[in-house]
Amino acid sequence: MSRAERSKANNNGEIPLARRFKPVRGAFSARFKYLFFGSLFLTLISLFITITSNSFERFSIAARQKHLNSLISSDGLLLGHFPYPEASSGELVVAYAGLKLHRDTFIALRDMRAAAAYDGVSLVLLSGYRSIDLQEEIFYKNKSLRNQIAIERAKVSAPPGYSEHSTGYAIDLGDATMRETDFEESFEGTPAFKWLNRNAAKFHFVLSFPKDNSQGVSYEPWHWRYEGTVDALRKFEPANKRLRQERNSKSK
Ligand SMILES: [Zn+2]
Repeated sequence: MSRAERSKANNNGEIPLARRFKPVRGAFSARFKYLFFGSLFLTLISLFITITSNSFERFSIAARQKHLNSLISSDGLLLGHFPYPEASSGELVVAYAGLKLHRDTFIALRDMRAAAAYDGVSLVLLSGYRSIDLQEEIFYKNKSLRNQIAIERAKVSAPPGYSEHSTGYAIDLGDATMRETDFEESFEGTPAFKWLNRNAAKFHFVLSFPKDNSQGVSYEPWHWRYEGTVDALRKFEPANKRLRQERNSKSK
């Protein structure tokens, strides 16, 4: 032990035990207090931010929904889309890769895929049934991501409650050999689309949004709806009625 250390030890020995440790403990508890209240403060601040941003988001979705509702036309269309009810869980079956479809759509699609495969064409199911909640997420989240106003967004995605996908009768199809065309207009150049154009009607599938459709929705060569039952036809009657009226007025 060096002399300095020895003298330090001696000095320590002269200080009463209580006094020797008190300041040390005081410094520790003060630091602990700062740490405790500091982290408590930070937690409260972050909690406050989370709660206010969540309620703001909820408020803004409600406000935007209200604004959208004010845009419904006299014939019930919202930004070019007809209202559609949600399929009941009893009507839905799990089709491929966790995708749900109305059971009638599923059977027709199964037959159509088999017929296409026979002709050397491989159809991929990209999406089927979507709940109104999921549609709400797609419509609002994508809209804010792409910084689009509702009118622009509605051209490529239906507002919640207005998507054919909610009925379980609408499907989005891709070509297994050309996946880069999934959800792209270029899908119209694939063997799958050419095959669908010639054969989908035999299985009661109809292209919902052809080029320059009267609803003003963007051309979607991948999006088909099933119209092979009375129930399905009834759901799509408003859209078909509009199509008939438009054809009539054009032929006059
Ligand atoms: Zn679709």
